[in-house]
Amino acid sequence: MQYFSTRGAGPVTLDEALVRGIASDGGLFLPQQLAAFMAEDFAAASSIPEVAARLMAPFFSGSSLQDDLQAILAETFSFPIPVTPLPAGEGSASLLELYHGPTAAFKDVGAGFLAACLTRLQGDDASPLTILVATSGDTGGAVAAAFNERPGMRVVVLFPEGRVSDRQAQQLTCWGDNVLSLRVRGAFDDCQALVKSALADTGLGSRFRFSSANSINIGRLLPQSTYYAHASLEHYAQTGRKPGFIVPTGNLGNALACVMAREMGLPIGPIILATNANRTISDYFETLKWLPRPSVQTLASAMDVGDPSNMERLRSLVGDADVLRERLGVLAVTDDLIEAAIREDYEAFGFATCPHTATATHTWRELDDELKTGHDWILVATAHPAKFETIVEPLIGATVPLPQGLAEILARPSRSVAIDADLAALDVALHEFFSA
Ligand SMILES: *Cc1c(COP(=O)(O)O)cnc(C)c1O
Repeated sequence: MQYFSTRGAGPVTLDEALVRGIASDGGLFLPQQLAAFMAEDFAAASSIPEVAARLMAPFFSGSSLQDDLQAILAETFSFPIPVTPLPAGEGSASLLELYHGPTAAFKDVGAGFLAACLTRLQGDDASPLTILVATSGDTGGAVAAAFNERPGMRVVVLFPEGRVSDRQAQQLTCWGDNVLSLRVRGAFDDCQALVKSALADTGLGSRFRFSSANSINIGRLLPQSTYYAHASLEHYAQTGRKPGFIVPTGNLGNALACVMAREMGLPIGPIILATNANRTISDYFETLKWLPRPSVQTLASAMDVGDPSNMERLRSLVGDADVLRERLGVLAVTDDLIEAAIREDYEAFGFATCPHTATATHTWRELDDELKTGHDWILVATAHPAKFETIVEPLIGATVPLPQGLAEILARPSRSVAIDADLAALDVALHEFFSA
């Protein structure tokens, strides 16, 4: 399988696309074509790694990782991804629980897969690959967890000091000797700028082999189609009906994986994107004009994206807004409605949802009757509510029980280094920590 940039450059191999992250023309990598499947193709596959092996095989044809695919998938899908039926209400709905990984959010799947691939492609004990990641909260934890203690690999996490929650900070700072956590005196944008200048700096580049684990890396995207395939195949086998999915959406990575699964022939019905108050996608569907803008802050902070980069992939795969809006629904959910949904979910389901997941449960309740009762719906739960306890607990008036993985992380010793937001300070910190 060959890979091309959304802007035309290519072809490159999967290995190159994984290592480069972004194409030379600034575009995003996509496979030359999507494989075509039928539900029967998965008759012999029941577990998630088995479904993944069928689904991912065409993407790995010709890659040096082909023979390692089973092992890569076993490492990636080492935790359960259950579909839990919700109490019968108006129509049939279940929750796709993507939050049983090491950092209790769906990014663990993409980060784990990318780490498993990059370690095999680039891991080198004599000259470790150093992954730089700037984070406003969630991504850095998933990337650090995924690369933690992998041989020949290092991670440097940069986060804005005092601007992440206590539990997020712990998930960024509790790892082994190959992870350096930096509290940057500045904002997220300063962290991002620092990563950019480090990647471009020839002095640092002569002493470190740098790479990034950007959310637009094709290795973060591909494995996510697996849980949509697995959930839809199980539902279809049991009921003969194709489930619809409602996907909380920020940068469009998770939702794009759902669209790709449907394009590949998996039994998936309607797909609806649930966003927060960042209205770039909903305005695009309404006005047919693509107008990226600065993000606004919301309770669903991991979805605070004003310029969703994966739209470039979605348009390249499916078409522009006039086509897209025929194939996808979208609803923008304000903070007030997120709060109301968290309360309503707790009352109706008996358990809490996180602010991101609440955009999906709200969207489901708002569906018109025909759509709602005409399909079985799977609502995508992107994070565990215990990650966002400071928002959720006051709303439901109860404590959210900690899942075991998160409890283990919170019990570990934490370690981080504070630096000013400049390259000289980063240089010193790297030198001291890795003695390079
Ligand atoms: C990253 C994230 C999202 C948004 O996912 P995209 O792939 O960027 O659309 C939603 N919920 C949670 C909890 C996240 O961490």
